[in-house]
Amino acid sequence: MARIAVIDRELCKPHDCYKECIRFCPIVRTGKNAIFLDEESKRPVIAENLCTGCGICVKKCPFKAITVVNLPDELEEECVHRYGENMFKLYRLPVLKEGRVLGLLGPNGVGKSTSIKILSGEIFPNLGRVEEAPSKEEVIRFFRGSELQPYFEKLFSGKIKVVVKPQYVEKIPRVISGRVRNLLERVDEAGRFKEVIELLELEKVLGREIKLLSGGELQRVAIAAAALRDVDVYMFDEPSSYLDVKQRLKAAKLIRRVASWGKTVVVAEHDLAVLDYMSDHVCILYGKPGVYGIVSKPHGVRNGINIYLEGYLPEENLKFRREPVKFFYTAREEAPLEERMASWGDLEKRLGDFTLQVRAGEIYRGEIIGILGPNGIGKTTMVKLLAGILEPDSGYVATQHLKISYKPQYIAPKTSKTVREVLEGLSEGILSDPWFKTEVFEPLTLEPLLDQPVDTLSGGELQRVAIAACIAQESELYLFDEPSAHLDVEQRLAVARVIRRVTEKRRAATFVVEHDLIAMDLITDRMMVFSGEPGVKGMANPPTSLRKGMNQFLREVGITFRRDPSTGRPRANKESSWLDRHQKEIGEYFYAVVSEEEGGEE
Ligand code: ADP
Ligand code: ADP
Ligand code: SF4
Ligand code: SF4
Repeated sequence: MARIAVIDRELCKPHDCYKECIRFCPIVRTGKNAIFLDEESKRPVIAENLCTGCGICVKKCPFKAITVVNLPDELEEECVHRYGENMFKLYRLPVLKEGRVLGLLGPNGVGKSTSIKILSGEIFPNLGRVEEAPSKEEVIRFFRGSELQPYFEKLFSGKIKVVVKPQYVEKIPRVISGRVRNLLERVDEAGRFKEVIELLELEKVLGREIKLLSGGELQRVAIAAAALRDVDVYMFDEPSSYLDVKQRLKAAKLIRRVASWGKTVVVAEHDLAVLDYMSDHVCILYGKPGVYGIVSKPHGVRNGINIYLEGYLPEENLKFRREPVKFFYTAREEAPLEERMASWGDLEKRLGDFTLQVRAGEIYRGEIIGILGPNGIGKTTMVKLLAGILEPDSGYVATQHLKISYKPQYIAPKTSKTVREVLEGLSEGILSDPWFKTEVFEPLTLEPLLDQPVDTLSGGELQRVAIAACIAQESELYLFDEPSAHLDVEQRLAVARVIRRVTEKRRAATFVVEHDLIAMDLITDRMMVFSGEPGVKGMANPPTSLRKGMNQFLREVGITFRRDPSTGRPRANKESSWLDRHQKEIGEYFYAVVSEEEGGEE
């Protein structure tokens, strides 16, 4: 077995501890420096060849900064990159296919961005040799026999040109200024300006300064800027962040179109419906986030996503998740609705220039209603009306008799209390409640966050804490506004399950605003579709079945979905495929449950 020891540089605070890691190491006690303090950096270093992997330092470190894992020796030969001593290690690389879209699928921290950076030439792969990097020739030789060998030959000699849409679009205004039109016209190398702008609906922002763009606008401009270039390989790192459900599907259409121009495309994406629609193949990345990541061989997109949901990689005989993700759509569609929990009449609400009209509806005990629609259409306004935060201008909302828990869309905590203090403050003893522990605390991986001050958490960490805080309160009506924003694919699936279980356990009624269609499908019993003109006028339709609601929504976007015959998950049909044409013809944009032969196509 080969040993990997990783010390998290942010968590390790050598000035605030007693260097327990070194003091308690049994190997150090025998006089060998398995772990020692580096003279220069004053930080601990683990010598992986001396460390026996006993795990004592892992347990003793008060900041949980150390991880030690053992991996098969053979794998060591496939290490493509290591960021530095006691840092993250990446094994293998995704194999690209010309003219095809390759999706990268996996939780955060297992090396999707690192793979993209290596394949784009931004990071030179050191093959794990942090002291002395190998030469280009050695790297090319390392990949001999695989399609990556000619790839790196061409990349290193400048014969392949690559463009990357980076993951963090919010950093773009720091490096690029000026108007959107100037930027996009400058990069329009193949004369596709009109086509790309129309598809991403960017006409209205062309005259705007880049520094004034919202997250969703920046994302679409960044995707356009990459797609307009005329290069060989296009890489899109998380293209759907900040985008609403319609914009995601349009961005996915554009990305497929890039491949149809004969280009090679790579996409890292957490929205499974979008990933499925975009990709021809997927590579699954697994391992231990922040410690090591392994890239699987490419699988056809259907099989790849099914493997991911199953949590079992057959070629390695390896289980990477405890439970498979299951879709119980048929049972839920037929579930009887018994006790009415809350209702609302026809409503109207004006906010500045915006008007929301809502048609009367109701929610039943034990039911989850999903809210779907573009941004700026009034979804948050509706949730606030239900929560009693806003009063309607006309009509009524009958929720006053209920105890309500609300997870807002934007979470901006002003407290330096720790996560533990916040959760215990909301509901005393909640952290020792066995149900909360197994059904909420563990699936949301809150353990590492418990003693961190809330105002130091990242977006995804904050989201998980806010969801837990909402659930910690025993309520009858739960409102979750965009619970999957900033979360990775694994966490989104976990959140869907958590919301379902809390609704069942407390026999509550729940509303969820969601842009991720797979999460939506997993969570909801019925749904409300919002339509209208964003920023001007929103119309909320009454709750309807998932199938009718999705049908109504997808018809507008022009994308059809079917259910995968083996897992039951919804799958977007590729544009103009036989099923796509057929379903459009019969007006079934969602759920045509198809046979293995029909539904098995990639
Ligand atoms: P993903 O895209 O799957 O979220 P990344 O490739 O961004 O994962 O990162 C994988 C791990 O590599 C991260 O958890 C982080 O610990 C580490 N890492 C990323 N960039 C650096 C860097 N520049 N220096 C050191 N470690 C890094
Ligand atoms: P969604 O949740 O669907 O993105 P929102 O309900 O947040 O939409 O907002 C709908 C529209 O109402 C947006 O155009 C927004 O700018 C506007 N709006 C929201 N709150 C206010 C307010 N307090 N004053 C004026 N306009 C508002
Ligand atoms: Fe202290 Fe833990 Fe860092 Fe060791 S690893 S120096 S115990 S914080
Ligand atoms: Fe020492 Fe054990 Fe930590 Fe290795 S895992 S550095 S042997 S305490």
